[in-house]
Amino acid sequence: TIELKKISKEFKKNTIIDGLDLSVKAGEFLVLLGPSGCGKSTTLRMIAGLEEPTSGAVMIDDENLQEMKDDGHTIAMVFQDYALYPNMTVYQNLEYALKVHKVPAEERKNRIENVLQTLNLVKYKDRLPSQLSGGQKQRVAVGRGMVKKSKIFLLDEPLSNIDVQLREKARDEIQKLHVMNQQTIVYVTHDQLEAMALGDRIAVMNQGIIQMIDIPENIYNKPTNLFVAKFI
Ligand code: ATP
Ligand code: MG
Repeated sequence: TIELKKISKEFKKNTIIDGLDLSVKAGEFLVLLGPSGCGKSTTLRMIAGLEEPTSGAVMIDDENLQEMKDDGHTIAMVFQDYALYPNMTVYQNLEYALKVHKVPAEERKNRIENVLQTLNLVKYKDRLPSQLSGGQKQRVAVGRGMVKKSKIFLLDEPLSNIDVQLREKARDEIQKLHVMNQQTIVYVTHDQLEAMALGDRIAVMNQGIIQMIDIPENIYNKPTNLFVAKFI
């Protein structure tokens, strides 16, 4: 379970997130949907513990994130700007976290080869990030999150640069992983259709506030305010 309790975030006195409450159940696929600049990435970074809230608390399984000694197993995140290790090959990018967490060599190899296949990256495995296109880099970023099989998987617009055919495949794989490993997923997008296709629930965000959170059907059919109605 992920719980955000009255989270606020200010950057230089600008309030970006304003008293946000959010609860994501264990094993749930939650989509955070909203327009550019509304605070989606900031929210995700706070869940990952990469950014500290100005006030409020992030709880993971009833434990305060700030006080948690995370072993790095619990949370994986796919960054909007990919954040690949520039001096490592694709294969090494996928392998790094698994080595750090002492996943046995055989298991590492299996997981990585699976993901390389799934994301059509086999032929790029020995390249450096600088030798890849944007979409290829994005696939590596998604793959790096996938191989970890962590309990919580955070994805920030992970498929925005991937072409339609592969996007559907990648989407299916993310869903498969979610089911197979009972991962709790928070998936950020500004794409309404993607949100509808993926979410157990959708949280619609605007200007640092969650405007509505519900199952896709209700978001679509029974919007509770004008913003949600117009945005969907
Ligand atoms: P997008 O869909 O374009 O990725 P987003 O919903 O992810 O947008 P955020 O990246 O969370 O939006 O940014 C929310 C607001 O906070 C924006 O106005 C942004 O300019 C501001 N912001 C984010 N990070 C910082 C920072 N480190 N310093 C100052 N302002 C910031
Ligand atoms: Mg963002």
